[in-house]
Amino acid sequence: MDLIIKGGTVVTATATFRADIGVRNGIITHIAQDLTGAPPVDATGCFVFPGFIDAHVHFSLPVGGFVSTDDFYTGTIAAACGGTTTVIDFITPERGQSLHEATDLRRAEADGRAVVDYALHLTAVDAAPRTLREVASLAAEGYTSLKLYTTYPAVMVDDAALLQLLELARDLGIMPLVHTENHAAIEHLKARFLAQGKTEPHYHPLSRPPTVEAEAAQRVITLAGLVDCPLIIAHLTCRQTLAVVEGAQQAGQAVYAEVTPNHLLLSDELYDLPDFEGAKYVLSPPLRDSSHQAPLWRALERGALAMVSTDHCPWTFAEQKQHGRHNFTQIPNGAPGIETRVPLLYSEGVRRGQLSLHRFVDTCATTPARLYGLFPRKGTIAVGSDADLVIFDPEQEVTLSYTTLHQNVDYCPFEGWTVRGYPKTVLVRGQTVVQDGEFVGAAGWGQFLPRQPFHHRRSV
Ligand SMILES: [Zn+2]
Repeated sequence: MDLIIKGGTVVTATATFRADIGVRNGIITHIAQDLTGAPPVDATGCFVFPGFIDAHVHFSLPVGGFVSTDDFYTGTIAAACGGTTTVIDFITPERGQSLHEATDLRRAEADGRAVVDYALHLTAVDAAPRTLREVASLAAEGYTSLKLYTTYPAVMVDDAALLQLLELARDLGIMPLVHTENHAAIEHLKARFLAQGKTEPHYHPLSRPPTVEAEAAQRVITLAGLVDCPLIIAHLTCRQTLAVVEGAQQAGQAVYAEVTPNHLLLSDELYDLPDFEGAKYVLSPPLRDSSHQAPLWRALERGALAMVSTDHCPWTFAEQKQHGRHNFTQIPNGAPGIETRVPLLYSEGVRRGQLSLHRFVDTCATTPARLYGLFPRKGTIAVGSDADLVIFDPEQEVTLSYTTLHQNVDYCPFEGWTVRGYPKTVLVRGQTVVQDGEFVGAAGWGQFLPRQPFHHRRSV
């Protein structure tokens, strides 16, 4: 063994027990009491969690002349400091661009830069013959998930393309992740508000109400059912979409849903903050009124919601968000969150009794690994799995602030919130990348992760 994690309480999605963990060549080789024979890493008084997985992040995303402010280096440092050891970002081709070319460009941005391991979702923006061929060949190279959008003109696909792409995904065994909002409805509502001179962030959620999300989710789930393809609904935000998803699940359809900490913890009165600060919370689908939060937490606990990702997509408030100062539709959509997900879910979820310790690990690590073809290499603590480990001090209090977080952006949506429980030491494949809360890793330590198709996965 190269090192031994000593004296901690190991927690997986299904078990909690006291044990030491032996690591050799980046792999977990022993889980047992009182291991000796290698340098110890002290975990006394701490939980030892599997490295957490954030399966929805956007580093260096170009939108409308701006680029999101975390790249694969700064963004994965923030991930590591927050206990996340695997991220999944996106390959987003421009219309008409080869998906292989877009993939090569994305890999060039990440390789040699990432400090934790990473994978990439494909995005299909049409169902042209070349696109279908490229998705198939990239799937064979380990890109086994496919992002689809029902809104945003640069990337959206119509129902005919959706059906073709979902059928292809089924045949290839790659998992669709779908952003579901009704594009025409959003455009109609935005145009009406702007014509009435209603330009403030207040109108952002009103232009994308819950039914706009639920309608598109229902339609996409129906189409997926027609071609017998499993799918994941991205960033579900409201009771209405939850009812659609649970209805399909109860009918036996393989439908999964993702939720973000923003939608579990923040609500739409933030859009009315003075001095344009509401723009900090302009993300899509938007924050809802607080009555949606308790149903989302309960759904997460009982399994109707499968996992928690962040949709991390930071834009500076001082400059980039100001682009929409006089027109809310021009505010770059998105917010930071990659570093605060795990502490917030533990503190607000586990500590407040809204989420069991096992569901916390399951929704933030194990289920994303299973659904996206990384299990059991990632997402659990087991002999043979990568030694991605988070030594987590359940008593450490931290007051969140953009000034001390590592996210490369000038605000934090949870500024001033105090969390109790924080990652202390974080290992990626046996290498310490965070020690006593300080980043000690290196650019390029993070590896690209080819993934399995879902045909070969256990219990999907
Ligand atoms: Zn996203």
